[in-house]
Amino acid sequence: MGLIQDYHVELFEPPCLPGSPRWSSRVEIDADLTELLPYLNGTLKKRFYDPNSHTIVFKMDGHGVAVRPREIRLGNLLDKEEGEKVAREVIDFINDIAAKKDEITPDFTRKEPPKAIEIFKLLPKTNCRRCGQPTCMAFAAALTKGETDISECPVLFEEEYRENREKIEALFME
Ligand code: SF4
Repeated sequence: MGLIQDYHVELFEPPCLPGSPRWSSRVEIDADLTELLPYLNGTLKKRFYDPNSHTIVFKMDGHGVAVRPREIRLGNLLDKEEGEKVAREVIDFINDIAAKKDEITPDFTRKEPPKAIEIFKLLPKTNCRRCGQPTCMAFAAALTKGETDISECPVLFEEEYRENREKIEALFME
C-alpha cells in the first residue's frame, strides 16, 4: 500500500486560450509529504527545493512538477488524458521513494531556483494576463515558486519568442 492512496485531479485549461493543447493540473492527495520532501531532494538530480515553504520543483518527461505537502501541480499537459496519466506516474514515483526511504540519504539543503528577475528579462513583458497572472513579473515570481509552468504563457510559444522560451527552460535545467 503506497503512502498516497487516494487523490483527486483538477485540470485547468490556460485562461484566455480555449482549446490550447497545454493544460495544467492540481492534484490533491490524501497524505502529508512534509517529511518525504528531503528524500525527494536527495534523489532528484535536477530540482529546486525550498525547505521553508516545503516545495520541490522538477521535470518529469517534459512536464513541470511542483510537489508540496498536500498537493502536486503539473504543467505542460497535452490534454485531460495526459493530465490523468502524468498524475498517476508522479504519484507512483513518490510512492516508490517512500517505499525506499530507508535506502536514501535525505538532503535538507535549499536548492535555489533561478531569480525571478532573470526570467522576467526573457518574458514578452506585455502584461497581457493570458497566463492568469496580473503581470509578467508576477508570472516570473510564480515560476520560481513552482506555482505555474512555462506552458501557461502562450506568448512564449509564438515563434518570435522561441529562443527566449528555450533560455528560460535552460535556466530550470541547470
Ligand atoms: S507572462 Fe506571458 S501570458 Fe503572462 S502576462 Fe506576460 S506575456 Fe502575458
